[in-house]
Amino acid sequence: MEYKELAEIYQSLEDTSKRLEKTYLISELLKKTPSEDLKKIVLLLKGRVFPQWHQKKLGVASRLVLKAINIATGTSTNRIEQDWKKTGDLGLTAKKLIKNKTQSTLFFKPLSVNKVFKNIKALPKAKGHGAVDRKIKLIAELLSSAKPIEAKYITRTVLEDLRVGVGEGSLRDAIVWSFFGDKLKIRYNKEENDFDISDEERIEYNKYINAVQEAYDMKNDFAEVAKIAKENGLEGLKNVNLEVGKPIKVMLYQKAEDFEDAFETVGKPAALEYKYDGFRLQIHKNKDDIQLFTRRLDNVTKQFPDVVKVIKNNINSKNFILDAEIIGIDPKTKRWLPFQNISQRIKRKYNIHRMAKTIPVIINIFDAMQINNKNLIKTPFSERRAELKKITDQIPEKIELAEQIITDSQKNAEDFYKQSLGKGNEGIMVKALDKPYKPGSRVGYGVKVKPIMETLDLVITGAEWGQGKRAEWLSSFTVSCIDQDGNFREIGKVGTGIKEKEAEQNKDKNLEGATFKQLTNLLKPLIISEKGKCVKVKPKIVIEINYEEIQRSPTYSSGYALRFPRLVKLRPEKPIEEVSTLEQIREYYQTQKHRK
Ligand code: AMP
Repeated sequence: MEYKELAEIYQSLEDTSKRLEKTYLISELLKKTPSEDLKKIVLLLKGRVFPQWHQKKLGVASRLVLKAINIATGTSTNRIEQDWKKTGDLGLTAKKLIKNKTQSTLFFKPLSVNKVFKNIKALPKAKGHGAVDRKIKLIAELLSSAKPIEAKYITRTVLEDLRVGVGEGSLRDAIVWSFFGDKLKIRYNKEENDFDISDEERIEYNKYINAVQEAYDMKNDFAEVAKIAKENGLEGLKNVNLEVGKPIKVMLYQKAEDFEDAFETVGKPAALEYKYDGFRLQIHKNKDDIQLFTRRLDNVTKQFPDVVKVIKNNINSKNFILDAEIIGIDPKTKRWLPFQNISQRIKRKYNIHRMAKTIPVIINIFDAMQINNKNLIKTPFSERRAELKKITDQIPEKIELAEQIITDSQKNAEDFYKQSLGKGNEGIMVKALDKPYKPGSRVGYGVKVKPIMETLDLVITGAEWGQGKRAEWLSSFTVSCIDQDGNFREIGKVGTGIKEKEAEQNKDKNLEGATFKQLTNLLKPLIISEKGKCVKVKPKIVIEINYEEIQRSPTYSSGYALRFPRLVKLRPEKPIEEVSTLEQIREYYQTQKHRK
């Protein structure tokens, strides 16, 4: 398949914000995609060459792409840079410069999807001496034979910043439309952007949507799911299973206002658990092989040899996938340490064993997705917990099941909550006893109850250079939430709560917050464009923000603004896909109105 076909779809996707139209466009593309290209196309639609559960990141700096554009077009890097400043998008600049190239390129052999995929996939493999040159060559080779529109999207894909707004929902629905559309008589009316379906057909339609969603929950890879849908149909999708060693998305929890609200959401009686302020780990075991993943699905097995050992010795099952929160413990005082301390262990590359001694951890297991070859995703929570208990030899302060009570009484809940806070926890979790494990969604099978007003986790998408003594630092940060199509929507600017000096930060014993310097260093390599004092950055750095109030506002693309936003802390463990959603913000805005 020619890459041009994909590039044109990217453009159409970028040109519309209508979800149904996006679904239609993707489904038409998938329909005509030959089998051998299907997986590649699905990955590329999300701007990726590796599936979501995969470790590898491209990690290509803008400078490198600039050099590749220079080679492909003969334009000086200075001029490229000037244009980039104007467009704010290296993709657009590449498109323009390729267009200006001489006509002769029109006779080049067309770029295939396969070639683009292959070259981009080879980027992280280039290591050691000469790696930079090899990477530039791989990109320049593509750009040299690219048409303008292809250059735009190749550039953005390489920079991991595709921005065409393909959400998981559209991709899932598009798989159903393409491979089961005829059978389900799906009729999309383009003029009216409407999707005609009778109530009866809707029931059948939802069956297919659920099958694709459930297969995705297990595989964590739409490319694989699309292939199964095409080749093996509904039966194939139903037979998809978990694979030990491939991390799945973790289940997420909504926030409850209070215990009444919590019980209302999950039902009575419910399981109440401590909400430990630690680090989430997904633990996989297959025979002797144990792998640990963060909630961002990064593999951190090497950083926690102590955890691997305890798991190996104290959980009795051939294979499993478990969900746990590990917390750091002060070896002298035996007090539990806040998250910031243990986060140091995640980044460690050296002296890992020494670190394991200075910050030992307690493993609190709270859920099980697979035990002894049995997939437990659809098993009710109470049974999952019972299975977990059977296989775990608990050792206090080392490996335990999350502290739990089962109750239908608000009084008991409040006592348990106080007890949990007294131990230094963040609050409690209230979980439905009869519900399955739902990867990646905040469906309300469990909720959290925390004391403070809900903070928001937002991603930094822009910043401004400071003035006077802050001139070297980025000092005001534009933050964004995420909408249902995966687009980041601005919601405000944050400049307070950030410290000037490290000393101030250290005084704050729990190492919360961040300094301007720290944020500047984190953001500088992520700058995509610069105009005057303002920069746009690649969405990567997630921060927790508190605020006085959410207001309606035409200024920001979310339609909302925050009154007195203040940085609480960095959230390095949080993937950008999991920042606060526009939907949640709308909800908070509503509840806040009721409170008034
Ligand atoms: P939040 O990050 O505020 O959305 O809260 C959810 C997080 O709490 C989960 O991702 C876990 O990392 C953590 N957590 C701590 N204790 C538990 C527990 N008993 N059950 C589930 N999650 C827990």
